[in-house]
Amino acid sequence: MSSSHHLETLLVHAGESPEKSTGASTTPVFQSSSFAQETAEDLEQIFSGRKFGYIYTRNGNPTVTALELKMTLLEGGRGSVATSSGMAAIAATAMTLAGEGDEIVAGRSLFGGTYGLLAQTLPKYGMQTRFVNASEPSAYRDALTEKTRFIFAETMGNPRLDVPDLKAISKVAKEAHIPFVVDSTVTTPVLIKPREFGADIVIHSTTKYLNGHGNSIGGILVDCGTFGWQDHPGFDEQARRYGEFAFLARLREGVFQDFGVCLSPLNAFLTLMGIQTLSLRMKKHCHNTEALVKALKDHPAIEELRYPGLPESKEFPLAKEQFGGRFGAIFTFRLGTKERCFQFINNLSLALNLANIGDTKTLVLHPASTIFRQFLPEEKTNMGVTEDLIRVCVGIEAEEDLLNDFRKALDAL
Ligand SMILES: *Cc1c(COP(=O)(O)O)cnc(C)c1O
Repeated sequence: MSSSHHLETLLVHAGESPEKSTGASTTPVFQSSSFAQETAEDLEQIFSGRKFGYIYTRNGNPTVTALELKMTLLEGGRGSVATSSGMAAIAATAMTLAGEGDEIVAGRSLFGGTYGLLAQTLPKYGMQTRFVNASEPSAYRDALTEKTRFIFAETMGNPRLDVPDLKAISKVAKEAHIPFVVDSTVTTPVLIKPREFGADIVIHSTTKYLNGHGNSIGGILVDCGTFGWQDHPGFDEQARRYGEFAFLARLREGVFQDFGVCLSPLNAFLTLMGIQTLSLRMKKHCHNTEALVKALKDHPAIEELRYPGLPESKEFPLAKEQFGGRFGAIFTFRLGTKERCFQFINNLSLALNLANIGDTKTLVLHPASTIFRQFLPEEKTNMGVTEDLIRVCVGIEAEEDLLNDFRKALDAL
C-alpha cells in the first residue's frame, strides 16, 4: 500500500492487513495496557529503540499504530501520532514547537476550543498568540517576530466558514523558515490534502468526519515531511538523532508521553472502521448540504445564510480551488433573535441539538449559548458567532426528510 493508490483504496486498505496469527480481516482491538516480551534482553532492546516492539499503550499500541499508518498514507506524510482528542493533538503540537517566551501566529476565527487554548491556556505557560484576520495572508507576515515558532490555520473556519488562502499563508511561513500547521478537521482528506497547499503538519479531530459515527473522541497529527527540522530552534539534538523524524520523536518522547494523551485502542478501532467509508459519507454529507442550502436560502424566516458553496459568497472561488468542487457539510444562518433560534431548534424533530460535527445524523446548535458562551462579545464576533446564529452540520439521511424537518421548523416561526 502506498500513497500512489487512489483515495478510496487507501481509505479501505491503508495501515491494515489481515492479522498474522489468525487471519482476522479486521484490525483487532489490542485492548491491553502492556506487552510482554520473551526475554529481558528483548525488552531492553525495545526500550532502547534498537528493536521495534510495543511496551505500554501510553507510548504505543498496535491498533493505534494502524490508524497512524492509515492517516500518514492518506495525508501523504512522513509519520503521525494519534491522540486522545483533537484538542490533545493541537496542544501537543503547539507545546512541542513552542516553549516559554515563544509566539504563535493564528487566524482569529478559530474553532472555540483551539481559540481558548491559544488565547487563555498557553499564555499561562509563557506562549503568546498573535491573532490576525485569517483571510488576509499579509496579516500573518506582519505579525511575525523572531520569536514566532509556527503559523496555525484551519482549512475552513467553524462556524465562521471563512476560507484562508493556504498557499499564500504557507509562502509566508516558508519565507520565515517556520512550520505551517493546518487543522483540516472540517474538510478531511476527501476534500483537501493540505500538504499540496504547503502545510507542514496536518491535524484532525478524528471525533468528527473520520470516525463519522459520533462514537469516540480522538485526534491525530501528521508530519508531512516538508519541513527541515534542523532549522527549528531547540531541535538540534533530535535532528541529529532522528533526522527527518525529529519533530515526531520530540513530540512522542516529550509532551505525548509525559501528559499521557494517548488514544485508547477501542477508539482507534472505531475510527479505523469509520474511515473506510469516509469518501461515501463525505459525498452524501456535501450533497445533502447543497440540497438544503438551495431549498432554504430564500426562506423568509432566514436573514443570512452562509455556506462557502454558494457561488455568490466571497469564499466560493478559493473554496472551489482548495476543496476540489466540494464545500463541506456545515452551513449557518441567522434568525434575528436568540429566542427564534431556540424556538427553531425546539421545532425540529429529526435533527439533533448537540455540540458536535461530522456525525451521520444531522446536528443543529445555537453556538452563542453553548460552545462560545465563555467568550467576550468581541471574540464571538471575530469567530463569526452572533446571538441569532444557528449552525447546521448536515448528516447522511434522505435529503427529502431533512428538507421537511427544516421547512416545518422554519415555517412555524
Ligand atoms: C472539534 C474540533 C477540534 C477539537 O477536537 P476534539 O476531538 O473535540 O478535541 C479541533 N478543531 C476543529 C476544527 C474541530 O472541529
